[in-house]
Amino acid sequence: MTAAEASAADVSGVPATFESLDPRTGDVVGTHPVHDAGAVEAAVARAESAAEWWGDLGHAERRRLLGEWRKVLVRKLDDLARVVTEETGKPLDDARLELVLAVDHLDWAAKHAARVLGRRRVAPGLLMGNQAASLTYRPIGVVGVIGPWNYPVFTPMGSIAYALAAGNAVVFKPSELTPGVGVALADTLAEIVDGRPLLQVVTGFGETGAALCRAPGVGKIAFTGSTATGKRVMATCAETLTPVLIECGGKDPLIVDVDADLEAAADAAVWGGMSNAGQTCVGVERVYVHEAVAEEFTAKVVAKARRLRSGSGGDFGPMTMPAQTEVVRRHVEDALAKGGRAVVGGAESVREPFVEPVVIVDVPEDSTAVTEETFGPLLVVNRVPDVDEAVRLANGTGYGLGATVFSRARGEEIAARLRCGMVSVNGVISFAGIPGLPFGGVGDSGFGRIHGEDGLREFTRPQAVARQRFPLPVPVTSFRRTSQTMKVLVGLVRLRYGR
Ligand code: NDP
Repeated sequence: MTAAEASAADVSGVPATFESLDPRTGDVVGTHPVHDAGAVEAAVARAESAAEWWGDLGHAERRRLLGEWRKVLVRKLDDLARVVTEETGKPLDDARLELVLAVDHLDWAAKHAARVLGRRRVAPGLLMGNQAASLTYRPIGVVGVIGPWNYPVFTPMGSIAYALAAGNAVVFKPSELTPGVGVALADTLAEIVDGRPLLQVVTGFGETGAALCRAPGVGKIAFTGSTATGKRVMATCAETLTPVLIECGGKDPLIVDVDADLEAAADAAVWGGMSNAGQTCVGVERVYVHEAVAEEFTAKVVAKARRLRSGSGGDFGPMTMPAQTEVVRRHVEDALAKGGRAVVGGAESVREPFVEPVVIVDVPEDSTAVTEETFGPLLVVNRVPDVDEAVRLANGTGYGLGATVFSRARGEEIAARLRCGMVSVNGVISFAGIPGLPFGGVGDSGFGRIHGEDGLREFTRPQAVARQRFPLPVPVTSFRRTSQTMKVLVGLVRLRYGR
C-alpha cells in the first residue's frame, strides 16, 4: 500500500494502517498504524518524561537495566530473528548473526558509558592554574532514530543502544518494510522498564519520519538510509536547528595487492558482495585487483560465486525492496553495454524477487555499476597495474563509507590512503563487529559516528565546568586589572611561549 492509499483509508476517521509483507512470497506478515504528526509528537512528549527518569538513574543503574535487556534479547533471539526473516526474507542464520552483533554492541555501550561519558578532570593550563576544570557528557534528552530495512536490528541498534547507554530516551521510526522488527525490539525493552516509554516505535512512511524530524522535543536525529533521503532529513532538521547524524550508503572497494592471500581475498569479495543479496551499506561493490594476480583471483571468485544460490533456503534471500531490482538491472545492463564481461550470471540473473549472483570484469569506470550504489548481488572486478591506481580508483566516487584491503605486507599502509570511515585489512566488514570502533562515513556516505566511544559521545552534549579554587593574585578578568598586571602576564607568556 502506498502512503497515499494509506492516508485515503483515514477519511472514515479510522486510523490508517499499512501492511508489511514477506518479500519472498508477498504474504502479509503484519499490519501497523500510519502514525501522523500528532501521534509522533505525542510519542516524543511521552519520551521526554522517560528521558528525565532515565537520565536521573545514573550510569550504574542504566548499565544494570541495559544488561537485563541484553539477557532478554538473547533469550528471545530466535523469535526476533524470525521476525527479521519474515520482513526481509534473509536466511534465519543471517538474521541471528545480526542479533548476535547487536547484543554485543549493547553490552559494550552499557559497560563503557560511565568511563567515556562520566565526569573527568581536565588540566586547567598555565594561565588558569587557579581553576579546577571538569568535563561531563550529558544526555541530550530524546533522540529520534530513523532506520533502514536491510539490517533492521543491527543498524538502528547502533544508534539506539548507544543513545540509551548515554542516558537518552529514543523514538524509533523503522523502515516501512520492517515495522514489525522495530515493534518487537521495543517490546523487549518495555519488559525491563515496567512499560515506561523509553524506547517507542512510530510506524509509517516517509511522512512519519519527517514528522519525527520536526517534532518539538527531539534533541537529535540519527538517520540511516540512502543519501537522497539523508539530504531531505537534514533539510527538515534545519528548520528547527535539530542536529543530525547521517549514515548513508556506500560503494565500497576491495583492493587485492600482488602479495595477497588470494583464496581469502576471493572469499571476502564473494561474501562481502553477495551476502544479504548485496543489500549491505558496507558491502563490497567494486574490486580492484593487481593485474599480476587478477587471473588467479578472478577464477577463485567465479568458482565461489557460481556455487551460490538465492531463494528460500538458498545462500541469500530476495531483494527486500522490489524497486531495488530495477537499479540492479540498470547497473548490470550498463556495465555490459559499456564493454564489461560477465563471468558469472548476466542480465538474465536479475529476476524478482530473487536475483542470482552476477560478477562482471573489466567494467569502465564511468559505468553506473562503478559510480552508483547497486545494493544487489553484483560484483565488479577490475584489474589495475599497481596499488597506486587501485587507491586512486577506490577513492574516485563521492561515497566514502568502508573499504577492504588484502595485502600481506602493506595492508595498513594502503588503508591509510583510503578516503573512507572504516577499513578491514585481510578480512571483510570486520570493523562493524568491533564495538569499540566508530562506524560512519565521509562525503556522500554521511557524517557522525555510531559505535565506540565516538558513538556514545554522539548522543550527548559536552558540558564544561571551571570552578575557581582561589583568586589570582593578579586579576586579569576584572576591572580591577592594572597595566602592571598585564605587563606581568605578557612577560610570563613571552617567557613560556615566545622562545
Ligand atoms: P531510505 O533512505 O529509503 O529510508 C531510510 C529511512 O528514512 C526509512 O525509515 C524511511 O521511511 C525514512 N524516510 C523516508 N523519507 C523520509 C523523510 N522525508 N524524512 C524522514 N525520514 C524519511 O533507505 P532504505 O530504507 O532504502 O535503506 C537503504 C539505504 O540505507 C542504502 O543506501 C544503504 O546503503 C543505507 N544504509 C546505510 C548504512 C550505514 O550505516 N551507513 C547501514 C544500512 C543501510 P520509509 O521506509 O517508510 O520510506
